[in-house]
Amino acid sequence: MDFRFTPEEEAFRQEVKAFLDQEVPPGPARRRFLGEAVSPEDWAAARELSRKLSRKGWLTMAWPKEYGGQGRSVMEQMIMGEELAYRGVGGVDYMGIRMVGPIIIRFGTEEQKRTHLPRIARGEVIWCEGFSEPGSGSDLASLQTQAVADGDYYIINGQKVWTSGAHRADWCFMMARTDPNAPKHRGISFILVDMKTPGLTVRPIINMLKAHEFNEVFFDNVRVPRTNLVGEENRGWYVGAALLDYERSGIEAPATARRILEELVEYARETKRGGRPLAEDPITRHKLARMAVEIEVGRLLAYRVGWMQSRGLAPNIEASIIKLHNSELQQRLANLGMELLGPLGQLVPDSPWAPLHGRFASMYMASVNSTIAAGTSEVQRQIIAQRGLGLPRGA
Ligand SMILES: Cc1cc2nc3c(=O)[nH]c(=O)nc-3n(C[C@H](O)[C@H](O)[C@H](O)COP(=O)(O)OP(=O)(O)OC[C@H]3O[C@@H](n4cnc5c(N)ncnc54)[C@H](O)[C@@H]3O)c2cc1C
Repeated sequence: MDFRFTPEEEAFRQEVKAFLDQEVPPGPARRRFLGEAVSPEDWAAARELSRKLSRKGWLTMAWPKEYGGQGRSVMEQMIMGEELAYRGVGGVDYMGIRMVGPIIIRFGTEEQKRTHLPRIARGEVIWCEGFSEPGSGSDLASLQTQAVADGDYYIINGQKVWTSGAHRADWCFMMARTDPNAPKHRGISFILVDMKTPGLTVRPIINMLKAHEFNEVFFDNVRVPRTNLVGEENRGWYVGAALLDYERSGIEAPATARRILEELVEYARETKRGGRPLAEDPITRHKLARMAVEIEVGRLLAYRVGWMQSRGLAPNIEASIIKLHNSELQQRLANLGMELLGPLGQLVPDSPWAPLHGRFASMYMASVNSTIAAGTSEVQRQIIAQRGLGLPRGA
């Protein structure tokens, strides 16, 4: 086992860093945690950057050349993702690049590959994920949205909820029930839906940060070509489960955390409490050091999945381990930040006394999301207990 990056990978990281140093203005990253508000200006700037990245072929570099990739290594793609997240760059279609793209490569038809992959690679589209429903979150296989075959089409009726970014999305990958009489995992299909299809409505949900980041999506007799089915009809559960493994195994969380930790370390150096720098306080030092270890563990776990993917292996319990570790890490980091900043940490960005640009209060609130989105910590522990430790299926 070799933990080093190759000289080519190191060189690529330097190239990416140099590019991003020019493109992303210095100063604090704007967007940090899932659920934090993105202003229209920030979104437009981020989309422009995404297009520049696509022109360099960097959004989907590990994909096959015939579908808009460069046939480069998964590790290079991860290095790219790590550097973007470190700088807090949003606006990149990560649901297309990291989730549905690999799924279409693995399970899609040739037509689906030729239609969708190049558009994701060019940064032209934004995808959203229509999985959760009002009565189906952790027990996702109980979902009730129905897709009924009608000639060359499915007619979809039902409701999705917590659909992140649906208001900005061009396409949605979703799961719907195509056989209501089959056992719940066996009657589901994985379908791609154009968000402009008549009968599809998006309604905002405002989160506790007062941000519009997720939505309800209603399907009222939405007609979708049957050619948009990915994988076999009624076997979509397995396609969706594979997608969740990609969703849970990203490098972004530890990269974002590393940047935030660096800011906290700087704050500890510059801030005096009780007449001496916070950085000399043994408890503060230990807590910062412990966080550095946790972040490094998260990073190595993520790169392990990159290594697996580069050998054609698909992550499974490894994805749940990463998701569990990195989401709880985000919460511990936000807690540590609030602890170090003290009462001033509650100040909002426009306050002149707000330390670290007044972002900790919103990061702290947004961190609550992290152990719920993409499957709760309890669900990840169940998966690890059952598939990793071989324990019997839980209640
Ligand atoms: C910020 C954010 C973004 C999201 N984005 C999307 C998105 O884009 N698309 C999408 O489809 N969904 C999205 N979700 C929804 C997310 O996937 C669900 O919220 C999540 O799966 C939990 O489902 P639930 O909210 O219905 O909670 P429930 O399933 O009702 O769970 C409630 C509580 O019960 C616990 N619990 C449930 N079952 C078990 C069990 N068997 N064993 C132990 N404990 C259990 C859970 O851990 C949780 O603590 C998002 C959620 C958040 C917070």
